[in-house]
Amino acid sequence: MAYLDLNGLQKSFGANQVVKSFDLGIEKGEFVSLLGPSGCGKTTVLRMVAGFEAPSSGVIRIDGQDVTALRPNQRNIGMVFQAYALFPNLNVAQNVGFGLKIAGVPAAEITARVAEMLAMIGLPEMGARYPFQLSGGQQQRVALARALAPRPRVLLLDEPLSALDAKIRVSLRAEIRDIQRKLGITTIFVTHDQEEALSMSDRVVVMNGGRAEQVGAPFEIYNHPATRFVAQFVGTLNTLDGVVTDAALGEVTVQGQSLRLPQPIAAAQGATVGLALRPEVVHLEADAAQISRGDFALPAKIAAVQFLGAVIRVKADTAAGAISLDLFNRPDAPPPPLGAEVALRFRGQDVIVL
Ligand code: ADP
Ligand code: MG
Repeated sequence: MAYLDLNGLQKSFGANQVVKSFDLGIEKGEFVSLLGPSGCGKTTVLRMVAGFEAPSSGVIRIDGQDVTALRPNQRNIGMVFQAYALFPNLNVAQNVGFGLKIAGVPAAEITARVAEMLAMIGLPEMGARYPFQLSGGQQQRVALARALAPRPRVLLLDEPLSALDAKIRVSLRAEIRDIQRKLGITTIFVTHDQEEALSMSDRVVVMNGGRAEQVGAPFEIYNHPATRFVAQFVGTLNTLDGVVTDAALGEVTVQGQSLRLPQPIAAAQGATVGLALRPEVVHLEADAAQISRGDFALPAKIAAVQFLGAVIRVKADTAAGAISLDLFNRPDAPPPPLGAEVALRFRGQDVIVL
């Protein structure tokens, strides 16, 4: 059995079932994200693991122990919330030492542990400060130190970065992951931000309407979405229609041109299927002379160019609809001008069939 095991978890508030038959096993030291839109039940799952909410049914085990009926303080779990939930009337050292004091840990040991935690979060000199004297990012690091000080078995993070500025948010991703790795602590991280989930996690659980739609490594989730919802929620997606010409061979036509997909298609001959393409698999051919007869190439016209720095996102209109694609920035290759006539190419193996 996994170190943290959630088995058949359900939760209803009155007639509203917000978590539906949720199963998840997390290995010791693993970092797993719950990713999904607002209201899909992420926080409710986390609160059940923490013990703040009793499941309507299901079992929660940590290291083989059934903790479902235990109170939060009996579970040995650390939690960090979105809003800085530091005690405003306690200084940083007192905040970090709070759980240890409650647990009756001797003062000298608390002092040592607090110093260790403050060093770990990179704020060794801040013990005497009060929360209002800290930036948002510093407050969340202190909240993390406070959660980790009692050496919990499991760490739960509920959108801990959502309230922070973009730059801090990105740098704290790496910092949290570093600390988590160093301690080897089993972690569930809740977020509605797909980039956060993909960049930080060993595995991602994509949730929708109280269910786990897919569980997998970031690469797997992004490249092989199991459902239409996952495909559309995780990352940017172009969709276009294909007409099935040979289902067994995985052959479709797009705007009259033939395209061979890597696997058979579960649809009848002549049926229209939804094809999806990530922006980075669409290639732009500015020079029509480069296209040989028989190559798959959609004529397109540049409709928008967004310079993002490392990446240039281009929107091009085609007879199959608008398609977004990403170009890597190269100093010697300015993006095509608006209105330019180009061709778009992509490979059958890069298509996600919806
Ligand atoms: P998320 O964290 O994914 O945004 P939540 O777990 O907070 O979602 O909420 C899931 C659903 O459960 C929402 O529709 C929310 O309104 C409802 N809900 C959450 N907590 C309660 C509660 N204590 N009483 C009634 N409904 C609740
Ligand atoms: Mg929430």
